[in-house]
Formats: sequence, structure tokens, C-alpha cells
Amino acid sequence: MRLGVIADDFTGATDIAGFLVANGQRTVQLNGIPSADLQVDADVAVISLKTRSCPVKQAVSESLAALDWLKARACAQYFFKYCSTFDSTPHGNIGPVTDALLAALEQNFTVVCPALPVNGRTIYNGYLFVNGVPLDESGMRHHPITPMTDANLMRLMEAQSQGKAGNVPSAVMDQGADAVRHTLASLKQKGFRYAVLDALHDVHLATMGQALTDMRLVTGGSGLANGMARVWPGVGDAAAEGRPAKGRAVILSGSCSQMTNAQVAAYCAEAASLSVSVERCLAEPGYAQELADWVMAQPHAGLAPLVYATTEPSQLKAVQDKFGAAKASEAVERTFGAVARKLAAAGFNQFIVAGGETSGIVTQSLDVGGFHIGPQIAPGVPWVRGIDKPLSLALKSGNFGQERFFFEAQDLAA
Ligand code: ADP
Repeated sequence: MRLGVIADDFTGATDIAGFLVANGQRTVQLNGIPSADLQVDADVAVISLKTRSCPVKQAVSESLAALDWLKARACAQYFFKYCSTFDSTPHGNIGPVTDALLAALEQNFTVVCPALPVNGRTIYNGYLFVNGVPLDESGMRHHPITPMTDANLMRLMEAQSQGKAGNVPSAVMDQGADAVRHTLASLKQKGFRYAVLDALHDVHLATMGQALTDMRLVTGGSGLANGMARVWPGVGDAAAEGRPAKGRAVILSGSCSQMTNAQVAAYCAEAASLSVSVERCLAEPGYAQELADWVMAQPHAGLAPLVYATTEPSQLKAVQDKFGAAKASEAVERTFGAVARKLAAAGFNQFIVAGGETSGIVTQSLDVGGFHIGPQIAPGVPWVRGIDKPLSLALKSGNFGQERFFFEAQDLAA
């Protein structure tokens, strides 16, 4: 395999996988550490973990287990993928996981580059910016789980790891791949363990891609992967194996984001749709069956039926005040999981799902261990097809896609 990726969360895994497919790489995404005997035919495997904010020990051991699986497939290079806003405080997991992966690969030097210029994440003199604002002055300063109070990636890295961090400044990036290689060699020779790579725009990503062809382990965001994959030969239609199979589709919407509300409203105006009662999710064990029966009773032809818990903020607040936010969420998620399972058993094979958590629960309920990444419906939202199940999924987190997303997903599957 050309590249083995260890991603610290699910949407991050989907993000990097999308960039790799767009660059002609046949890519599979695996949910959690796969079984040792799983056979995969692809250029890239992306293992998605949930290690961004779990205890350090767990993050290290799961990342090493993922690396073992990838090493058994003899990947030419390995990639530790984290968020473009770094999302890791001085007590975070990026440093310890990087150190553990370096040791397991018998390496003592790597790069750090969370930049994603297309989304406004740039690095200048080792400082990370979000839409032109230093990370610690952006909304990330108040993130509920990983508040970022420093924008200096060298300091952030050194605070949570065992080595020293240097910088490859943008002026060197401007000079091209040879200059970058030279600076990396010099940092390594001086005893640095990590090199933070500046990236102001896509040309810098392409330059680092050319400079890093021999590095066993790299760490960073999907922008870095995009630069690396541009150097590799690709196939014409890398998304072919992820294309949705024909069959019966359903839409399950558990997101209450503004965009999902607009998408649900646009869809309800033209297609069969059914609103979920949170109260009944909480109180009636047979409710999921009733919802599934309604879906099955809809005509086979035409637009897929929609089941939605999606609601406006004021109504959501009222429900949460009445039942408790965690209890309400959990009941809705459990119901969607059960509905999905029943529909799959009844022969439905296309699931269009809105909501990050909702997507997670549906994927888990359908017991899909991994998927081939298919064509993009909207930026960051591809169709994917199960590697171990004949199921196709379109998994959209909250604000992704435009108003006619549910129609567009079906158009692409037709
Ligand atoms: P997003 O990607 O927009 O954040 P998620 O699926 O991750 O969407 O999260 C939405 C959460 O809100 C889920 O836990 C879901 O079960 C819950 N939820 C959805 N609809 C309702 C509702 N009507 N009342 C209460 N909770 C709801």
C-alpha cells in the first residue's frame, strides 16, 4: 500500500480520504482497528479512531495497534492525521502518539503540518492561523474540550512530547522542494525531532509533497496529504468502488443544524416525510418498528422517504428542557440506530444520513467495518460503499451540503 493513515477522529478520516480519492488514490476508510485477516485492495487505508481527547495511554495504544495493522500491509509511508486546528492542549495526545509512532517505526524525525489553506488554516513562522487570526484568538480559544490558548505549534508540540521542534519557514517553502529537504536535514542534524512546516497556500503543500517522498512517518492535516498525493501516479476513477449500488434508499436526519433544517424543509415539500416524536422515542419500545414500517410502506419508485428528528432551535430547546438534552439525544440516536437496522434487514441498501453523531450510530448499527470512498456529493461528503456489507452510505455532518443535498445524493446514485 502506498499510504497508511491513522486518523484521530471519524470526520477527520473522511476528510483526508476525500482528498486522497480526489488525487486518484483508491482509498478505504476503516472504522476502528480492523481484524488482522481483513483483506483490502486499495492504494491507501485510513483507520479512523476516536483518540483526539481520550486518555493519553489509550490514544497511544490504539494508534500503535492501528500502525501494526498497517505495517502488516507494508505501506510505503505512514500518516498520523489530526485536525487543522490542532485541537490538542499541552496535555493532549498528538505529541505522545507521534513519539510512539516514531519509536515503533524506528525513526527519530518527522514533520508537523495541520495547515489547510483552502479552509483558511495557514501556518506562518510556525504559528497556526484560522482565517487570518492566530489560533488562540479564534473561536478555538473557547472550545469546550480542547481550548487552544497558544498558536505556536513548536511550543504546543514541545509541551506534550519528548523532543525539540523547529520550523521550516515560508521563505524556504517558496524556494522549492530541494530547499525544504535541505532545511529538514539540517534540523534533524541539530537534534530537532519535529519540523513545523509553514504553509500559506496550496503551492506550499505541493512543495512539501515533493520534499517528503522518503519520510516514513508524517503528521498533519488533510492539506499535507493533498500535497503528498499530487506527486503519486493516480488511477482515472479512484472513486469507482465507492459508487452506490442500485437499490432502495432512505433518508434519516438527526441533525438540528441550520443547514439541515433548510435541507429537510426543501425535501419535505416534494417527498414523503415523517417527523420523529422525541417523547415516543423515550417512552415506546415499539416506536422504531412503527417508523421502519412507515418507510417500508412507501412506494419503491421516486424520491426516497425521509424520517427526521430535525427541528428548529426553539423547539429543540423546549424538548431538551422537558426531557434533558442528553436523554433526548440518546433516545433519538437509539431510535435511528434501530430503524436503520430494521430497514437493512428488509433490503434497504442506501442510507443517506444527516448529523455527525447520527451518522456514527447508524454506521455502528449497520455493523459496517469500513468503506470504499466514492464520488463526492458535496465538499467533504462522499458516497461510500461498505467493504464488508453491500450497503451504500452518504454521511453528512451538520452544516455540510447545500439546500438540495438530499436530492443531489440520490441523483448521484441513480
Ligand atoms: P450535527 O452534525 O448537526 O451536530 P448530530 O447528529 O451530531 O448532528 O447531533 C444532533 C444530536 O441532536 C443527536 O444526538 C440527535 O439525536 C439529537 N436530536 C436530533 N433531533 C432532536 C430533537 N428533536 N430533540 C432532541 N434531540 C434531538
